[in-house]
Order: sequence, then structure tokens, then C-alpha cells
Amino acid sequence: MITKSKIWLSSPHMGGSEETFVKEAFDTNWIAPLGPNVDAFEKSIEDYLGNDLNVAVLSSGTAAIHLALELLGVTDGDEVICQSFTFSASANPITYLGAKPVFVDSERETWNMSPQLLEKAILAGIAKGKKPKAIIAVHLYGMPYKVGEITAIADRFKIPIVEDSAEALGSTYNNMPCGGFGKLGVLSFNGNKIITTSGGGALVSKCLELKSKAVFLATQARDNAPHYQHSHIGYNYRMSNVLAGIGRGQMKVLEERVMARRRNHKYYIEKLGKQTAIEFLKEPMGFHSNRWLSCILFPSYDTREKIRLALLDENIESRPLWKPMHLQPVFSDCAQFVDGTSEDLFNRGLCLPSGSNLSENDLDRVAEIIIKTLAI
Ligand SMILES: *Cc1c(COP(=O)(O)O)cnc(C)c1O
Repeated sequence: MITKSKIWLSSPHMGGSEETFVKEAFDTNWIAPLGPNVDAFEKSIEDYLGNDLNVAVLSSGTAAIHLALELLGVTDGDEVICQSFTFSASANPITYLGAKPVFVDSERETWNMSPQLLEKAILAGIAKGKKPKAIIAVHLYGMPYKVGEITAIADRFKIPIVEDSAEALGSTYNNMPCGGFGKLGVLSFNGNKIITTSGGGALVSKCLELKSKAVFLATQARDNAPHYQHSHIGYNYRMSNVLAGIGRGQMKVLEERVMARRRNHKYYIEKLGKQTAIEFLKEPMGFHSNRWLSCILFPSYDTREKIRLALLDENIESRPLWKPMHLQPVFSDCAQFVDGTSEDLFNRGLCLPSGSNLSENDLDRVAEIIIKTLAI
């Protein structure tokens, strides 16, 4: 039997100039977590995001969330609200600081944090004398959360937002780039993200002082002295100058990558839109998703699994939507404000192959198997 060629969910897609910048790092011996590629990569993200935002590139998106929470003063015994429908990296750093996550469910229109449940969670915290220290809101799969409503609630209660934009570089809300809405924003350049440095992340802030503090903490918190002097606990979280070279090359093709992923999504709608058993996530007015992953909903868990296994049989990788954090064994003792939305999405949803390097032939293969399997 001839094995059919593998179609990945979301694989790295180099643009061509990455190796030039990596070679530059070698040629100049800047093989360190600082150097010209780090500075230039930061500058290119700042230029892309605009709005006078400051960017610190780090070893991962998870590190960026950890630093964001620390910069906001989250500490032992605090509570931090977190979108339940997300990847575990959104929530894990809360526990690094000895704080407790409080999980909030999603709404149907964007699959992100429900403003109503957010307000309920905040009021419950205040009622028991424990106002949440921060809110982690996520633009899941590249779809912006309801930025206007969520920000208004956070502002009313004076709680800072950590904007988890790990999946949403290139997305916009009312023509403003995702990553710049929170008190602090988080980006990821992990291997499966829309652009990648193989591993990496960034912290975004309006305030230059917060960036400086983040870089200070990310480089072992060294005081200004000729010897090694420390009055804070630090971390080793800065991005390497070699990897930042990959990032510089990737930034040159970010817009193309967004267009390619949006094209994939449109193609799936063309091919599968007439199937009554399939539901797509639409963009509300003013919401522009990078369509990092193209996701669809089936009528039931059983149909979803039937399709997933049929694709797997054909050497095609697909994946159920994120399992909500309030359903994860490791977070079973955490407070939750849920209404069944994310649990339902998890049960019925599937992420389809979405890489910017997929061919029309690849997408046809995926669509044909889905249509054939639904007809059985
Ligand atoms: C990828 C991801 C992260 C973490 O980023 P890493 O760079 O992998 O540490 C955080 N939140 C979400 C929603 C992600 O998808």
C-alpha cells in the first residue's frame, strides 16, 4: 500500500530571508540572548503593531504571560480570572506565582470570554473580599474576543487585562491590531503559530517602563553594578539572537501568511459551506481574524470523531478544539463561571489543516474526505 502524503495541522513556513539573519548572527558571533537581531525583531513587531507599543521578545509566550502577571503584582493567594476555553499555557503561569485561576466560559459569537460571565466572576470575587488581580482574555484561533465589552468591564472594576494574543498576530478589531489592547499583550512564535522562531514569544505594552522591567526580570534581574548584584528574583526568559534572526525573516512575510490562512478558510467554506452538518465561526462586524486555524462544528461528538478518524486514516492531521480548563483534571479545584458553551464547542468542534503552506490539492483532499464520510 502506498501511504498518502502527510497533511499537517499547522506546520512552520519559512519565507526565505530567515537564514540570512541567522547567518549574520553566526558571522558576527552574536550567539547570545541579546544582539542586533533581538533589537531589529522587536523593532519590526513594534512597527507592525504601531500605536507606540513597546515589545520585548522572550523565550516563549508562556514566559510572557508569567512576566505579565508578575509585573501586575500577582502574588501568593491572589485570584486571576482566565478564559476557560484556551490552551493550558494561558492559565499555568497563574499557578507559578502561587495564585489561583478563576475560569470564565465563552460566548457563541467569537468563542471567547463571555462579558456576562466575566462580570459575574468579578462581582463574586469582590463579594467575598477577593477582587481578581488580573483578567487573562484570549483571542482563540485568531478570532478577537469582544474587546469593547470586555475592556469596558475591566475598566469599570479597574482590573488590568493580560491580552493573550498568542494565536492572533495579524488579527484586528475595529482595524486595530490584536496584541495592543490589554495593559500587557502576549505573542507566541512557537512552531505551530502563524509565524515562528521555532520557539519564542513577546510581551507587548503601551508603557516603556513596563517593557524595561520585563527585560530586567527576563535577564536574571541584575542590578546596575559592576559585579553580579540582585535585589529581585529573576528569570532567564530573553530570546536568543539566533532565533530572533528567524523572527526578522518571518515578519517580512506575516501579511502573506495571514492572507494564506484566510484563503484556506474561505476555500473550506466554498467546499463545505453547503453541508448542513457543518457550522463555521463567522466574523462579527469589525472583527478580522487571521484564521490561524480553520475550525468547524459538527452536530454531535460522534460525527466529529467519525470525521477526525477518517482524516487520520488518510494521513491527515486534524484536532478537537481546546479542552476547556475548567474540565482539566489539574484545575479541578478551581472556581468556575460556566454555562456549557465551551464544553459544547469542545465536544463538537474540529480544527482542520490550516497551514499557510497547504496547496489547493491538500485542501481538496481534506474537503473530499469530510464530504464522503458525512454521506456514509
Ligand atoms: C501557544 C499559546 C500560548 C503559549 O505560547 P508558547 O510560546 O508556546 O509558550 C499561550 N496561549 C495560547 C492561547 C497559545 O495558543
